[in-house]
Amino acid sequence: MDAKDKIKRALAQEKMWFSDAYATKGIRQSAIGNRQSDPTVNRPLPTAKKAKQLAALYEQYKGCLACPLGKSRIKFVFGVGNPDSPLMFIGEGPGYDEDRKGEPFVGRAGQLLTKIIESMKLTREQVYIANLVKCHPMINPKTPEVRGNDRPPAPEEMETCKPILLEQIRIIRPKVICLLGSTSSKAMLQTQTPISKLRGVWNKLPDFPEIDAMPTYHPAALLRNPVLKKDVWVDMKRIMARLAE
Ligand code: SF4
Repeated sequence: MDAKDKIKRALAQEKMWFSDAYATKGIRQSAIGNRQSDPTVNRPLPTAKKAKQLAALYEQYKGCLACPLGKSRIKFVFGVGNPDSPLMFIGEGPGYDEDRKGEPFVGRAGQLLTKIIESMKLTREQVYIANLVKCHPMINPKTPEVRGNDRPPAPEEMETCKPILLEQIRIIRPKVICLLGSTSSKAMLQTQTPISKLRGVWNKLPDFPEIDAMPTYHPAALLRNPVLKKDVWVDMKRIMARLAE
């Protein structure tokens, strides 16, 4: 069974991704793997070259102080995952846990994102995960030890940091980008339309019109309002169908 068949089989299953039993028993087979094994996917760079370019980008920016967030961060949170993945998730910025670990989506919302990914018959290692900004936006940067001190990045912070993310996308060249939450969706699609109207609808990224972008609710929103999980699962099934084409 090839990668597309696996995704199609996952699509055919109607089990909800937020079922704990389903998530923990999720089949961790390679539904995406390395795109070098899939001749139907157009990839401008071989995987090793992509990894090398991402590593160089990390080195270039790991000490960045171009916006005020750099002064208060603990760790620069670049991004993780498969540099050759056809699927990339983009959130807004690191929070308390991410700032300490240096990895995006590792707190409670991140654990929920991992469940979502596993319900798509994928693993975190098979997709690529990044944020709009690479340093933790805090309400009060003088108290980094306080939990719940998070805020969305300001427009000027996103604008300053955006070249790093655009370069990550240029290197990875995913087939599909899933935009997580209002801030990420509005910024990447350059719109003020509310996330409730954006979600579930395919878009083209203004900066990369060849890439399909699917906005959906942020996992943190699902923690606050579990009713939204149903909509997110609908959006994930649309993404899986597009990946299987
Ligand atoms: S958020 Fe981005 S632009 Fe601002 S300091 Fe961090 S890496 Fe640099």
